[in-house]
Amino acid sequence: MFEKILIANRGEIALRIQRACRELGIKTVVVHSEADREAKYVKLADESVCIGPAPSTLSYLNMPAIISAAEVTDAQAIHPGYGFLSENADFAERVEKSGFVFIGPRAENIRMMGDKVSAKQAMIRAGVPCVPGSDGALPDNPKEIVQIARKIGYPVIIKAAGGGGGRGMRVVHTEAALINAVTMTKTEAGAAFGNPEVYMEKYLENPRHVEIQILADEHKQAIWLGERDCSMQRRHQKVIEEAPAPGIPRKIIEKIGERCAEACRKMNYRGAGTFEFLYENEEFYFIEMNTRVQVEHPVTEMITGVDIVQEQIRIAAGEKLRYRQRDIELKGHAIECRINAEDPFKFIPSPGRITAWHVPGGPGIRVDSHAYSGYFVPPNYDSMVGKVIAYGATREQAIRRMQIALSEMVVEGISTNIPLHRELMVDARFFEGGTNIHYLEHKLSERPASPEADKAIKK
Ligand code: ADP
Repeated sequence: MFEKILIANRGEIALRIQRACRELGIKTVVVHSEADREAKYVKLADESVCIGPAPSTLSYLNMPAIISAAEVTDAQAIHPGYGFLSENADFAERVEKSGFVFIGPRAENIRMMGDKVSAKQAMIRAGVPCVPGSDGALPDNPKEIVQIARKIGYPVIIKAAGGGGGRGMRVVHTEAALINAVTMTKTEAGAAFGNPEVYMEKYLENPRHVEIQILADEHKQAIWLGERDCSMQRRHQKVIEEAPAPGIPRKIIEKIGERCAEACRKMNYRGAGTFEFLYENEEFYFIEMNTRVQVEHPVTEMITGVDIVQEQIRIAAGEKLRYRQRDIELKGHAIECRINAEDPFKFIPSPGRITAWHVPGGPGIRVDSHAYSGYFVPPNYDSMVGKVIAYGATREQAIRRMQIALSEMVVEGISTNIPLHRELMVDARFFEGGTNIHYLEHKLSERPASPEADKAIKK
């Protein structure tokens, strides 16, 4: 096992990884930007190294600075967390070439899955069902593009091969709008992801987002840890996640879970990973694979009892998986609310000093956050300041516990989306379970545009 790990990330996940390391008796080095210098999780680490100024291109994305930090601190392995360099195959390669262990899959697997076109092709080969779409990247010839769309049938969605974070997608309803949409998506993709390639998929009208968590080791063993429903989204970004996915026949999920584990064995995959699917009319359609730990991993941990981050570290150290598929039992229900520093009506980021921070507790409540009273939320990074996770024997109990947790939670000095979460936890459709990926946007479009308008309606 490693003696010292460098954490190449920030915020709640940097703290989460630190906690896993401590439990395993591993020392930690946290790298940070100038903007995160004062953060408490940085001080909690055994060592910390400032790797550059606030902009992430100069710090959290600065590969030479991170690798030098590992060298000067004698770390043996690097955990990339999520976002930043976690799905950068070049980084994984450079880490390993510099003599450190990259806590994640092999660079070739990251590269293949990072390009959504090659990822889909690999899945088709592995027998995982995909959303019907173009056979690879779209050609340049407009006539051919029109033909492809006719064959798939409208509406279609144009997606960037290198896209991520809910960006680089455009829905097209008519042939008249097609070519323009392809050109615009290509231009944006080239600028944002350095890869102008785009592909086309059938746009599913009412799907749910359901994903499968897997773990695989160096020794060709792979298991799946149940599913997560992440359909509650705004602008293709997840807001609430839960496990298991309500109302889906277990037989259908088991079949797809087994396929994912089998695909990992075929690919020689190593580490944690997530297969993301759209689910509609009892069918699963693969959309992409994330080759890293996900923000929403705690809901799986709560219902399986498996510590996914610790397993990532054990796998990277070359250990055999400690679980067989039969050991994975899903027990109870877990829900996660992502707490963002943002205006809950206009969704504009709300960075700044947190003047009061009181987190809930009690049975079944877990809060993963690096924030505290006096913490300054820097404007330079994504707005998530923590996650509240509620576990219950049943979905009803998990929701009830989440309602109580959210009612106890106090955050002052900045705006957060907690009011939105409180609303969603008493929403009749959410309570029923199984809402689709458009539900939240639809609900928001019917909601008052400001707290003042909200009060006026309630009077
Ligand atoms: P990203 O890598 O940016 O997260 P994904 O391919 O995972 O992109 O898609 C993100 C979200 O976009 C999905 O959860 C879903 O809401 C929506 N989406 C993607 N592809 C389709 C599709 N073919 N039909 C309908 N919605 C889609």
